[in-house]
Amino acid sequence: MKKIFQRIYSDFFLNSRLEEYKSLIIKALENEYKVISIEQFYEIFMINEDKQNSKYLVLRHDIDTDVSTAKLMFEIEKQLQVYSSYYFRLSTIDIPFMKEIHQYGSEASYHYEEIASYAKQHKIRNPNQIYNNMTEIQRLFSKNLETLRNSTGIPMEIVASHGDFVNRHLRITNCAILKDSEFRNRNKIKLEVYDDSIMKYVTSRHSDCRYPVFWKPSDPVEAICNNSPVIYVLTHPRHWKANIKENIKDDYNRLMEGIKYKVNI
Ligand SMILES: [Zn+2]
Repeated sequence: MKKIFQRIYSDFFLNSRLEEYKSLIIKALENEYKVISIEQFYEIFMINEDKQNSKYLVLRHDIDTDVSTAKLMFEIEKQLQVYSSYYFRLSTIDIPFMKEIHQYGSEASYHYEEIASYAKQHKIRNPNQIYNNMTEIQRLFSKNLETLRNSTGIPMEIVASHGDFVNRHLRITNCAILKDSEFRNRNKIKLEVYDDSIMKYVTSRHSDCRYPVFWKPSDPVEAICNNSPVIYVLTHPRHWKANIKENIKDDYNRLMEGIKYKVNI
């Protein structure tokens, strides 16, 4: 019951936390952190290692829902002249916004979920059926990525896996699509954001979460105060402002998907 109340509060009554978001970035800047995108993180740590000359706050936004709050976050970042990464699902794609992010110097790319979509569409409840159909799932990924690249003109060589309830049920992350290095090369993917090759440089990792906790495992401000060299912060717009219309739509879709997935065994 308490959880339901918290969910309702978070979805419909949460006051904007965007001032808190701004304060977080200001705190990082005051403490001499460079606030960068994943793409910049990749360039600094995996291509030009000699350029590591600062403490870094790596900012990643997964746009699962609510592009309008993402736009407000982007405005704050522009004001403070910092950079970040925005990963869009097919359901949240906003081509003009993505182009604007890219032109500014931040990163806009693909938050992919073809395993989850395929499992929902084909009512798959056994992980082996996913592995058996991986070629077809990869084909769908390639097609979607190519369409996005063509319509935005953005290279999108770094992509981020979305975590869906179906992935949790099947115990397969969408990253499985990119396990094969040849497939990656063919699709010009230089990095999946969960790759160990980049995550090994992170010294403090934080993700936002729903009211009343807000951060797991802890508030990144603590890591800033502790001078952690590479702080990685993942956010989702819905945890920063209650966008009632968006949340009703998302909760409804999630409910219907859950019902369909469970009923049609
Ligand atoms: Zn996601």
